[in-house]
Amino acid sequence: MPDGIAPAKTLRSVAALEATGLVPPDDALAAVEARYAIAVTPHVAGLIDRTDPHDPIAAQYIPHPSEAVTGDDEHPDPIGDDAKSPVRGIVHRYPDRALLKPLLACPVYCRFCFRRESVGPDGGVLGEAELEAAYDYIRARPAIREVILTGGDPLMLSARRLGAILRALEAIPHVELLRIHTRVPVAEPSLVKPALAAALQTEKPLWLILHANHARELNAQALAAIAAIRRAGVPILSQSVLLAGVNDSEAALEALLRALVAARVKPTYLHHLDPAPGTARFRVPLSRGRALIKALRGRLPGHALPTYVVDLPGGAGKVPVAESPAAADAKGWVLTDPWGGRHRLADGGESV
Ligand SMILES: *Cc1c(COP(=O)(O)O)cnc(C)c1O
Ligand code: SF4
Repeated sequence: MPDGIAPAKTLRSVAALEATGLVPPDDALAAVEARYAIAVTPHVAGLIDRTDPHDPIAAQYIPHPSEAVTGDDEHPDPIGDDAKSPVRGIVHRYPDRALLKPLLACPVYCRFCFRRESVGPDGGVLGEAELEAAYDYIRARPAIREVILTGGDPLMLSARRLGAILRALEAIPHVELLRIHTRVPVAEPSLVKPALAAALQTEKPLWLILHANHARELNAQALAAIAAIRRAGVPILSQSVLLAGVNDSEAALEALLRALVAARVKPTYLHHLDPAPGTARFRVPLSRGRALIKALRGRLPGHALPTYVVDLPGGAGKVPVAESPAAADAKGWVLTDPWGGRHRLADGGESV
């Protein structure tokens, strides 16, 4: 399979979605299609419950007329990646970590994506010279200890190309860690072929961060893809986006987090939605996100709880925003347990 190409039966247009009954005919979708990429893989199409008008899988991938409207507070580069991009394909915000985007194609195009203005099937593949320039940037900066492959979706690359990139990066002496951010195991698990899993067998530690937002994404095929990656020796973490109509309830988040842990995947971040253009229908107030996380604290094991974060506009980085159960006052600390009980501790940790 050539680079950047999902299975042939991927639905890539409003017409194709209409023909399969996944969207009702609507002239307003032409403007959405002209601006943003569409892709619904056969796997995702099969996960959608067509009898449910509010299906949480469909909500993530099926275009909606409201996307044609950009709100005043929405921005094409909501977290300021462009300002932190010294060479094509690199985003460098934190001294010790750099992003490398070898391509901008994805198996699916999520309607809430913060990179929706740049991702798409025919853009963004770094040529050999551009990849070399990116490696040179990393080679020249010993402070970079971790390279994070993202995109687009790095697992859309052929096994040969992905393997070559991982090999080149791990040959840089000061690069200690490699990371891949991907949606492939839940968006089109058939792409995780033995050769791709073999390409993930690096000498230096490689961690994979799976992007999943709903428990139903973790079906049998997704679990098999996850297991194949894990068997290659790659530990798997996850991140999710808090999305109205997808996972903005205690029950939906609990089911998602339990399904991830059951798949041997450790949840890390729950992202507050970045204000990308045309994403208003997914917005969840920060206060609601905080209340959800607080409610989950007493319901889930600690290792299943993600950190709720906002990625600040302008490239200022990620900030945890969940309500802290610890507050300082003049007498020391007031700690609130998951059931609302209050406890006093001195700064040294002793009860007072
Ligand atoms: C999110 C992000 C990272 C990774 O941050 P972690 O907290 O390590 O996951 C690195 N660089 C940029 C530019 C980012 O946006
Ligand atoms: S897979 Fe990731 S980068 Fe691609 S559209 Fe979805 S959220 Fe955006």
